[in-house]
Amino acid sequence: MLVGVETGGTTIRVARADRPDRPFHVLTLPTRAPEETLDRLRQVLVDVAGGQRVEAAGLAAFGPVDVDPQSPTFGVVGATPKAHWQGVDLRAVVADTLGVPVFLDTDVNAAALAEQRWGVGGGCTDLSYVTVGTGIGVGAVVEGRLLHGTSHPELGHLVVRRHPDDDFEGVCRFHGDCLEGLASGPALRRRWRRDPADLAERLPRARSIEAFYLAQLVVTLEYALSPLVVALGGGVAAMPGLLDAVVSASADLLGGARGDHPLATGRPFVHLSGLDGQAGLVGALTLAHDGLEARD
Ligand SMILES: [Zn+2]
Repeated sequence: MLVGVETGGTTIRVARADRPDRPFHVLTLPTRAPEETLDRLRQVLVDVAGGQRVEAAGLAAFGPVDVDPQSPTFGVVGATPKAHWQGVDLRAVVADTLGVPVFLDTDVNAAALAEQRWGVGGGCTDLSYVTVGTGIGVGAVVEGRLLHGTSHPELGHLVVRRHPDDDFEGVCRFHGDCLEGLASGPALRRRWRRDPADLAERLPRARSIEAFYLAQLVVTLEYALSPLVVALGGGVAAMPGLLDAVVSASADLLGGARGDHPLATGRPFVHLSGLDGQAGLVGALTLAHDGLEARD
């Protein structure tokens, strides 16, 4: 049996499974201060395991996190805006509680893996996953393997061209008006002084500006990694009509620069993330599954 853990900005989910794409006994807890959250996580891990023999665990961790198994700080949270989480060893909490090997990646890389293998990727070799919520994160499977570089992609901080009607200063604590600063859930809330799910009469304008920024990420991914599919997840992705607006804005921005591209030929290219909102959790279980296979 496998155990999967997805630590998100607002919620942590834990599940067990025999097959990675079938999470079972899913339990959730809110992400609060580390001490309180980790005590509760230890208890939830024990509950989910239910006294059964666990072979391995997968951890899909919010970034930035050290994903290098050779590093002395493997599994430790890096410089994050989440208060008091920097330096927390997420991997050790899971490993020490369950006493099993823990295979770890970022939440977005795990979601990319899940979508590529079990979701909208349909087994294709190249898929990028974009989440737009508390922050903006990107994970990618390239030629069938998760993309890391020397750590992992941080494309949420992409430098973007300004929408001509947007003078919002942005909310990124590092850059102000990077992509995350202008298009994350907190950015929407601050700019429109409304919950992103409740924009009402401001929706068309908000959607148009949001799509303008997200399209720059989609096109950047396309130029850099040539994915067959971009999967769009996170709370903001559910904004009515956003998917179509992003596809349309991406085609405009591409401007014929790649005539063979699916956008130019009308084939679907950007999809909403599937897997019932459990891409991260399914990804965590897949990391555990693949990790075990690689050791055998
Ligand atoms: Zn930034």
